[in-house]
Amino acid sequence: MKDWQDSYDIVEQIPHYIRLESHNDECFIGTCPFCKAGPTTGHTPTLQIDAKHQTWWCSYCEQGGDLIQFAVKFVNQGDTSRK
Ligand SMILES: [Zn+2]
Repeated sequence: MKDWQDSYDIVEQIPHYIRLESHNDECFIGTCPFCKAGPTTGHTPTLQIDAKHQTWWCSYCEQGGDLIQFAVKFVNQGDTSRK
């Protein structure tokens, strides 16, 4: 299981969770699944994914981390919403 992160590119994995709206060279933009600030709430998408550093950051709810943290948060959020 070592080098897990090396074999999973954040910009290839995050689209499994959310749709990425746009990108330039090394920064992808999408709607944050945690605060859901985005076109539906009158905001421009606030989730930024840094391909170079393999990290993500939402400028609206001020959360960020790596791919694993994103996946864990996403799954936990799903569990909460089903209760
Ligand atoms: Zn957010």
